[in-house]
Amino acid sequence: MCKIRYLKCPSCQYVFSEKQFDPYSFKDPCPYCKKQTGLSRGFEKWVSVGIDKCLEIAKNQKLDNDNEKVICIVFLCTALEVLLETVLYELIKTQKSKINLEKIWSRGKRIKEYERFSDCSLKIFLCSKGYDSFYDDWNKLAEVRNKIVHGKFFSRIIEDKIINKILDNCLKVFTEVHNDIQRKK
Ligand SMILES: [Zn+2]
Repeated sequence: MCKIRYLKCPSCQYVFSEKQFDPYSFKDPCPYCKKQTGLSRGFEKWVSVGIDKCLEIAKNQKLDNDNEKVICIVFLCTALEVLLETVLYELIKTQKSKINLEKIWSRGKRIKEYERFSDCSLKIFLCSKGYDSFYDDWNKLAEVRNKIVHGKFFSRIIEDKIINKILDNCLKVFTEVHNDIQRKK
């Protein structure tokens, strides 16, 4: 599987995939602010090593094996929650949110904080970006993960194609959310 990297522009803070421009080229400016900031001039790799690791573990599991599917679900959910936390830290940086991530752990409450800032439900925002089922699929996945962590191994109640779709789209989706926060700050 070809891994696409995501990079954050040090100037405008927008995140782009390598597919959108060549970060090694000094001639290729940032697609948003147009500053010529090649990789050696400070483009940062976006998403932490921890998120990358969780996604790698999730992707390496074979979904036709029940135990491996359980591992995939748990690690994929963890990656999604850390991605949500990452974009909320961006929100805190804008100073338009004072959410205390040390105290508010509920996924629902954290999503609501983004929605309060953005004036739009996350589901509608993602649909507008072409990710029609992501929000509902994520809810289904989180529900199964919660069952698993409470000792009920019902991994089969979620279809493999839903898991694969989330795996394929999660970084693209959170790039959209991250950039939405930059746009509205
Ligand atoms: Zn830029």
